[in-house]
Amino acid sequence: MPVEYMNQAAGTNSTAGLKQPNYQLLYFLPACGSLISFVYFVVFLFSLGYFYGGVTNLVFSLAYLLTFVFYLLDKTSLGKHFLAFSFISQIMINAVYLFPREAYFQLFFLVSIPLVFMVFDEQEKKTRLFYCCLVLALLSYIQLGQDNLIRPFNFIPEDIWITQNFNLFCSFLVLSLSAYMYVRIKEKSEQETYEMASTDALTGLYNRRNFYPLAEQQFRISKRSSAALSILFIDIDYFKQINDQFGHKAGDDTLKFIAKTLSKRCRESDILARTGGDEFILLLANSDQEAAAKLAEVIMQSISIGQSEQGPAVSISVGIAQLETQDNNLENLLQRADKALYRAKQRGRNRYQCWQAA
Ligand code: GH3
Ligand code: MG
Repeated sequence: MPVEYMNQAAGTNSTAGLKQPNYQLLYFLPACGSLISFVYFVVFLFSLGYFYGGVTNLVFSLAYLLTFVFYLLDKTSLGKHFLAFSFISQIMINAVYLFPREAYFQLFFLVSIPLVFMVFDEQEKKTRLFYCCLVLALLSYIQLGQDNLIRPFNFIPEDIWITQNFNLFCSFLVLSLSAYMYVRIKEKSEQETYEMASTDALTGLYNRRNFYPLAEQQFRISKRSSAALSILFIDIDYFKQINDQFGHKAGDDTLKFIAKTLSKRCRESDILARTGGDEFILLLANSDQEAAAKLAEVIMQSISIGQSEQGPAVSISVGIAQLETQDNNLENLLQRADKALYRAKQRGRNRYQCWQAA
């Protein structure tokens, strides 16, 4: 692959390539919570003069804001915990002051539990369980307060305070739910587009467009942790002749066969893509050049064993390079693998070649 073409492709994909769907789009929840709580802070403290009401809402406003900041800093897990604590305590306080004693604890339960399920997903079952237990524990506490005919938080149980909190409560709930629905719909359509555009139709492997963002991510991870990373540029030898002699269908079958053989030899952490007509790239996390060369050997053997006797004889050439400390970007690595592949072709094909300086 010419280097200019490769550079352009890498650039295109890193900037305009499809982003992975963002599963943390629940940004809206803390943003809404923060905004509404802030409005009520102003209303309580300055218009109505209720100090406790004002301060409570200011605290919540800051808590939601902090959640938002955590999300932006990619500390999503911390953000989610902050969000859960904030809304559970806010709903509890509002429910306790809002409704008659016979109803408020059921209401607290009915609102908090679905919100816990919204914020923590399927993979976070234990965390969901923890927060559901927390809600139940708080409910018992509130219930205890009810039995003793006292409310757990004796701020200022004025009617106006309750009315204002009712508004706060409803707005928060409605906004949260609509934000949640918006997020889920967007996420679903992004996921569909992503899946449609991310795979190569013939082989089912990642295509060029999808490969680069994933490879860049892996490059950054390996670089940060000083872990090994190697790359294999794979190109079928004399593929044009296969097409010419046996037809396009046989060519396609050969591509599928190579793709299948490569997939079989890959680990789950590897990134395998068909990046051009008869070009494949395999990125190996935590593997150095030596391990990559061994894998190349195994792949080449599998190809020679696996090809059918009636079909066209096929072989591949492989260029191998590994991450070096001076590499500032993925392109440096790709260029070396490309040069190594060129060298393997020059030296007669059906071989692998590790990159060597000069
Ligand atoms: P070399 O050993 O130097 O790589 O020679 P080559 O003949 O393989 O040359 P090259 O890699 O440039 O050839 C790629 C050919 O792949 C050109 C094109 O006709 C063919 N091709 C590209 N995409 C497809 C496809 O989807 N199906 C089929 N059957 N052929 C394809
Ligand atoms: Mg070729």
